[in-house]
Amino acid sequence: MSAGDVETRPSPIAGQGLFARRDFGVAERLAPYRGPLTSAPPAREESGEVYALEVAPGLWLDGAGADNPARWANHSCAPNAELVWLGATEGAWLISLRPLRAGEEITFDYGFSLAESLFHPCSCRAPGCVGRIIAAPLRPALRRHLRFSRPRD
Ligand SMILES: [Zn+2]
Repeated sequence: MSAGDVETRPSPIAGQGLFARRDFGVAERLAPYRGPLTSAPPAREESGEVYALEVAPGLWLDGAGADNPARWANHSCAPNAELVWLGATEGAWLISLRPLRAGEEITFDYGFSLAESLFHPCSCRAPGCVGRIIAAPLRPALRRHLRFSRPRD
């Protein structure tokens, strides 16, 4: 990736976002997701942001550093990229799931658990957005949970 392929700027989804600066094809590397590997899950940011990727059981990539612009990529319920661990030599990359046009926001599935999702509202505005940041396979369970939970006041 050359430095000019992606850029960070304010996002309609949340805060800063990561955006394509040129067209991309399917399964192209969009941006590296850089950070040190640790054997313990990195602590959460005070803001509640999470930039950790579990690359293998018990091995975490801490993407919170300033040298990782890809950390600004937002979650979407209909993502156009996925975060893939390519091994110790290549590291982790955001890779396109479909063709992207220059100017499109790059999003991926944060893969949050049901418990995590309850503290992370989603405002991706994708059709079918479940309103919480949660891994795609868990969305039916979240929908059931929301249907049966009652407001407290
Ligand atoms: Zn959403």
